Amino acid sequence: MTPLFDAHNHLHDERLLHRLPELLPAMREARIGHCIVNGTCQDDWPRVISLARRYPDLVQPSLGLHPWKIEGRSPDWLEKLKCTLAQHSGTIFLGECGLDRWMKEPHFEEQREIFTLQLNLAAEHNLPLSIHCLQAWGPLMEILRTSKCPARGFLLHSYGGSGELVPALASLGARFSFSGYFLQEHKEKVRAAFRKVPPDRLLVETDAPDMLPPDRHQEHLLRDHEGQPLNHPANLPQIVSGLAHVLGQAESDLRVLLADNFRRFFGLETL
Ligand SMILES: [Zn+2]
Repeated sequence: MTPLFDAHNHLHDERLLHRLPELLPAMREARIGHCIVNGTCQDDWPRVISLARRYPDLVQPSLGLHPWKIEGRSPDWLEKLKCTLAQHSGTIFLGECGLDRWMKEPHFEEQREIFTLQLNLAAEHNLPLSIHCLQAWGPLMEILRTSKCPARGFLLHSYGGSGELVPALASLGARFSFSGYFLQEHKEKVRAAFRKVPPDRLLVETDAPDMLPPDRHQEHLLRDHEGQPLNHPANLPQIVSGLAHVLGQAESDLRVLLADNFRRFFGLETL
């Protein structure tokens, strides 16, 4: 069976980090290869880098400033990000960053500016970029249309936009990743949008510990210390089988397609 690759997760998240000794063997058992592990703020960037050092066969580091975390940034956050990228000469990706009008008090002008700076940086070095977008598709399209995008394209992680937007985003270079939460009953509209994604632009992710799949798509159950359910990163095979069902495709063919798309977009070996 072709291995699987997680286009977006947060293994460094404090809810998962101390449990990695039990999580990683389950991921290896599930034949999960490289994961793109996304830092979201200056505080968590060092944790992502040290995980990548410890588990180079599993963790591909990606660093960004997430719209939920912009308030805690230091004045020199961009310099720090550039410096870290330079120190690791092209081996660190960009994101998670993006636009969010779903959150309380979005400070949207600041978000726009901070996202554009990270998009410019990705374009300058042609790095894979992981974009978060909630209720801000119009402004995102406008920025993507008027800025230079990375020549290799960019990833819209947990794509929750409409099916109508897919062709325009694809022509700008978008990759679309599907997460397990979209297998929830009420997410039919998002599933319909994924049926419109060009096959060579399709990726899959867990976004662990978030974006919980429905119970029947959770082989591995995980809870935080308060008993709240978390998405286990080894649930990826069940998400892929759910996606195969959504697309009406054989799971084995879908695995081959996803591995190929992952290798081409991220430039990582998938053997
Ligand atoms: Zn995320």
